[in-house]
Amino acid sequence: MSAIPRYLLSDNSTVGDDGALSVGGCAVSDLAAEYGTPLFVYDENHLRERCREAVAAFGHGRVVYATKAFLCRAMARLAYDEGMLLDVASGGELHVALAAGVPAGACTLHGNNKSLDELRHGIEEGVRHIVVDSFDELDRLDSLYREGLGPTPKVLLRITPGVHAHTHEFIATGQDDSKFGFNLGNGDALKAVDRASRSPSVDLVGVHCHIGSNVFEASSFAKAAEVMADFAVPLDLPELVLGGGLGVAYVEGEEAPTINQWGSVLLDACAALGVRSKVSVEPGRAIVAAAAMTVYTVGTIKEIPGVRTYVAVNGGMSDNPRPVLYGSGYESFLPRAVNAERNLTARLVGKHCESGDVLSLAAKLPADVAVGDLLATPVTGAYGHSMGSNYNKITRPPVVFAADGDARLVVRRETFEDLLVTDVG
Ligand SMILES: *Cc1c(COP(=O)(O)O)cnc(C)c1O
Repeated sequence: MSAIPRYLLSDNSTVGDDGALSVGGCAVSDLAAEYGTPLFVYDENHLRERCREAVAAFGHGRVVYATKAFLCRAMARLAYDEGMLLDVASGGELHVALAAGVPAGACTLHGNNKSLDELRHGIEEGVRHIVVDSFDELDRLDSLYREGLGPTPKVLLRITPGVHAHTHEFIATGQDDSKFGFNLGNGDALKAVDRASRSPSVDLVGVHCHIGSNVFEASSFAKAAEVMADFAVPLDLPELVLGGGLGVAYVEGEEAPTINQWGSVLLDACAALGVRSKVSVEPGRAIVAAAAMTVYTVGTIKEIPGVRTYVAVNGGMSDNPRPVLYGSGYESFLPRAVNAERNLTARLVGKHCESGDVLSLAAKLPADVAVGDLLATPVTGAYGHSMGSNYNKITRPPVVFAADGDARLVVRRETFEDLLVTDVG
């Protein structure tokens, strides 16, 4: 069986004469020694390059980074410095973006169930757009207007276009049966446009859709763009936002469109249908996923003859819940031997008290994997750190940005004291 495919490693990954991996010019073994494991290692120039690719494809001010994929102050700043705006989906995400020094005027507030406080916070701070998701939210905006809160927020309406994206059910959001948005098919979308365009409490500037996440088929995006263009052209509003959702390759054999190809599909579809609005997108995963890997230490290897081998690392579902949530696959390899054939098939598991705490059901690893080895899972830059938890009171791993031979700690490892910060006992 083959070595880890190099295309799953971040752009600035290099392998030395000794077969060992460096990221951004930093030896992974040095990073592990300095910061401990588990550790998220981001290739900073890879992140910047994906931001630049997106901005080049769609235009300055037309790419909104979906912060839920991965957010800390360094990431918020990086995306903003590279010419992107930020999509925040809660008061907490807005708080972190603002704490990073990103102006509220560069933030779009999302969420299917924003509270009155979140809306008030967004309006007071002066967010660029609020993407309104429901009639109840329009009611809440009316009540804030009656309170005299200003300025009048610029809003987009989230439309559910009835397009079924080919992805996992839990991350498909464009179909009619969805908690998100105003359905196009049953007339709610038009009713919402009608109400918002007459309402003094909002300034309707456009419509929005997001069909789902980790979508690989360019045709799904083209279809959504067509449906949205049909709806949006007669409205002739200034903004049309087509969401995020571009998939990335996680495992050997997967292939996703590039950001540039995605841009062509969407912009061509819009041009063909006569869209005159400013077209923007909101990528999350496609910007950050492949930029990072998680580095663990192997602690226990259990061989059950005739059954299987378990390889347990010192993290698991608390730093990467995606396999449990979506059945997602991940590759694995040993940073000390990047080119090694991976002839052992083992179940890669974490250290949590659950049989379901699996990182990879059938991980391929070099047969000489041993206790004490560093083990890495690539493409963990999206929805890993951000979906992490403290389950079993495991402290969350640190995040390091590596570039040009230097590494900087941007999120430190949690301590046992952190576990008690909110416990007023
Ligand atoms: C999650 C989300 C995104 C980003 O999705 P990715 O799959 O990470 O690109 C963009 N827009 C909205 C509204 C979202 O909910």
